[in-house]
Amino acid sequence: MNLVSFSIKTKGIHNFARRLWTVCTRFSFSEARTHQALHTIISSLQKYNSSPTFFIPGVILWRHPTLIAEIARCGAEIGIHGYVHNDYRFLSKSEQQKQTQQAISVFQKTQIPYQGFRNPYLGWTEESLQVFTELGFAYESNEAVLHDVIDLANLPPPLRSGYEKSLALFQAIPCSTYVLRPHFEGALLRIPTSIPDDEMLCTLIYQKDWGPLVKNRQNVVPRSWNESND
Ligand SMILES: [Zn+2]
Repeated sequence: MNLVSFSIKTKGIHNFARRLWTVCTRFSFSEARTHQALHTIISSLQKYNSSPTFFIPGVILWRHPTLIAEIARCGAEIGIHGYVHNDYRFLSKSEQQKQTQQAISVFQKTQIPYQGFRNPYLGWTEESLQVFTELGFAYESNEAVLHDVIDLANLPPPLRSGYEKSLALFQAIPCSTYVLRPHFEGALLRIPTSIPDDEMLCTLIYQKDWGPLVKNRQNVVPRSWNESND
């Protein structure tokens, strides 16, 4: 399945079209704008003595080694996000191993240190965990913990459908199901990730009247965004 048909299937045609438009108009593919955006994230977190992790596919690192080396020098951690951006749930274990090794080779050739792996679409399998352990990763970050911050009843049907498709895609576990903290499985550290993620939230924020959709937006929207846009 190619990326376009996969995205339509998992997001719905309406949400896929909007996302494509957003990516093309807001982010373009210019390295200068990406450079600026990455540095904004790094400097925003520096105020809190924190630094971001950017998970990047091997092919993207191969195309932009200077940019990525520079943001790594500025304190960002770079993690591996596959070789190409595909879903490991559709790959055999040996194919997962091959593509992960290809990604590692790019990181080694470009001398970007890495310790962790996040799957595209958070699409991990039990075989993925074995591959990460065998290839010596310190951690993976894929288990998606869902925080109940979106008022589904107020979402227009296409948005609701897209939101629910994303939850299914990410194999989301509600945060009230059980306590999920970073934990070891053998030698591999598993670090959960919180959703809704930025893409899911931005889809809502671009709505004209998005306030009622979010149950407790002080907890969801970064303070700087709130202060400058309220
Ligand atoms: Zn991704």
